[in-house]
Amino acid sequence: MARAIYPGSFDPAHNGHIDIARRAAKVFDELVIAVYKSPPTKSLMFSTEERVELFAEAVKDVPNISVVPFTGLAPTVARDNGAQFIVRGLRAGFDFETEFEMALMWRHVAPDIDVVCIMSSLDYQFVYSSRIKEVASLGADISALVPPHIGEALACKLNN
Ligand code: ADP
Repeated sequence: MARAIYPGSFDPAHNGHIDIARRAAKVFDELVIAVYKSPPTKSLMFSTEERVELFAEAVKDVPNISVVPFTGLAPTVARDNGAQFIVRGLRAGFDFETEFEMALMWRHVAPDIDVVCIMSSLDYQFVYSSRIKEVASLGADISALVPPHIGEALACKLNN
């Protein structure tokens, strides 16, 4: 059985992430979305529990996807979950450099785990969680970029 994890901070998940998860769930028997509890280089808007819940709600109709929090190294988490693959999404431009570099480091750490990159859909090439939060805070309509429940959660955070 082919199992993969899809790690990220997902603060919050947007349509680009959800599209990658849905497509990966067609490739693998099981997909575990792994929500990074405290990425060292990012300050987060949503708590780990919120990020897990928001992503889980967005993919609740896909039976072979589960969503869990994680901490530590992605390849270690893959092993702990019995996964042989790590899924990453690739947008045009600089994603390739960073993902390639990270995949080589993960390969060094865990040669038995392979990274599988799925190309972002054209509609979501320029969709970033950080950019969504920024423009939403300035009043932009982001309803085409996130599912309604995530749009509401964002609005709620920004109004508090
Ligand atoms: P990070 O892992 O750096 O915290 P994110 O949580 O934003 O990044 O993203 C997790 C994964 O989703 C990464 O592989 C990232 O490249 C991918 N991703 C982010 N945005 C998109 C998008 N718009 N389309 C496809 N993949 C994306």
